[in-house]
Amino acid sequence: MSYSLPELPYAVDALEPHFDSETMTIHHQRHHQAYVNNLNKAIEGTDAENESLENILRHISQYSPAIRNNGGGHYNHSLFWEILSASPKTAPTGKLAEEIVKVFGGLEQFKEQFNQAGMTQFGSGWAWLFVKYNGTIGVASTANQDNPLMDTNLTNQGYPILGVDVWEHAYYLKYQNKRADYLNAFWSVLDWAAVEKKYEEVISNLG
Ligand code: MN
Repeated sequence: MSYSLPELPYAVDALEPHFDSETMTIHHQRHHQAYVNNLNKAIEGTDAENESLENILRHISQYSPAIRNNGGGHYNHSLFWEILSASPKTAPTGKLAEEIVKVFGGLEQFKEQFNQAGMTQFGSGWAWLFVKYNGTIGVASTANQDNPLMDTNLTNQGYPILGVDVWEHAYYLKYQNKRADYLNAFWSVLDWAAVEKKYEEVISNLG
């Protein structure tokens, strides 16, 4: 099988003024497309062609660096586009909201810890909210295109349900070096309904 670039579920200018259309266009059409193309090249003629991307990432230590970088890139960006919206649900409710209170003390405390993870990730990477294999949630950051699914990531393993791209290509055109401003803007376009949906799916699959 081969992978293809998913359509954005909104127009490229839908997330203005928080995420500008030029950044969205380049990020989706060039960066994400490149991860897709390079992932397809990297798996061609290998056993990875017959594995799901999730399974590949969960056993990424057995695959090449090209599959790690581009498989992670495709997975992470696909998740990122899905959790953004021009008319987002601005706070979680239900089970996820309860879990956030239990683990972090509240939504504001969670956001602070998440922003901190995004700010302190040195160089390129991602900050995550993820569901651990024991069903609780945590915040983590990872370098490059890694994510909590990867078995190379020993301390924070699980299923990512919310992620923010802190590569400079995600924010430099609009925010230059001001990563904190970009992270603040992210909360204005993050759709908690999409995150809740992912949370419910993971929790029900974990049993
Ligand atoms: Mn990116």
